[in-house]
Amino acid sequence: MTDVSKKDLLYEGKAKRIYATDDPQLVVQEFKDDATAFDGEKHELISGKGYCNAQIAGLLFAHLNELKIPTHFKEMVNDNSMLIVHLDMLRVEFVVRNVAAGSISKRLGFPEGKKLAQPIVEYYYKEDALHDPMLNRNHIYVMGLSDAKTMDECEGLSLKINELLTDFFKRCGLRLVDFKLEFGTQEGKVYLGDEISPDTCRLWDMETDEKLDKDRFRRDLGGVAEMYQEVLRRVREAAGV
Ligand code: UDP
Repeated sequence: MTDVSKKDLLYEGKAKRIYATDDPQLVVQEFKDDATAFDGEKHELISGKGYCNAQIAGLLFAHLNELKIPTHFKEMVNDNSMLIVHLDMLRVEFVVRNVAAGSISKRLGFPEGKKLAQPIVEYYYKEDALHDPMLNRNHIYVMGLSDAKTMDECEGLSLKINELLTDFFKRCGLRLVDFKLEFGTQEGKVYLGDEISPDTCRLWDMETDEKLDKDRFRRDLGGVAEMYQEVLRRVREAAGV
């Protein structure tokens, strides 16, 4: 850990804050205990969630960096915060699915738990006021949200990250059902940004199918705080720390 002095608050989202540092190329991403779902309609504080998600995301980003995936992660600066590359974020979310669950089950009638014949990548517009609608490439180009070269790069990275994280979570005894990624650029270079945590992935225990992710909060399944601790324990063990 280095001594990074946090300066002005640049941005506050539902689960994270971004602070400036002395270096304009770098910012600090701080994870909060706030949990929200259904466009912020459901909101609770979950003690220890910020700590667990920061630690989980830090270990997963460090693992991906080692495997030559360009992520925004530099290093942890304290329990809840990490130093990251200051990115210009794409307003497109990339969802990768291996097993049907959540919105694809509702929309297409795929039974929850059905293994997909191949991974599916979907794009969503990051716009709360429109409830993050699904997009295709034509929407993205017409709306000026990105270009073909950047989209190809982000989609290729998403599929590669899916392979790497599927392997990593297997070592945690967890099935990576689906997850959401966000990308951004600095000086024309694409980086994986945001977070990877039980808030952005569906993770099911390989033996019992127990849900070890944010669906515990969304669906009132109980044991939410314990779930974050358990995922952190397994991620630490698999990372050998
Ligand atoms: N996801 C996310 N943020 C969003 C929407 C989805 O992190 O704004 C994640 C979600 O946790 C899941 C995956 O993306 O792991 C697919 O989510 P889905 O489209 O099924 O939406 P949901 O029904 O979970 O809202």
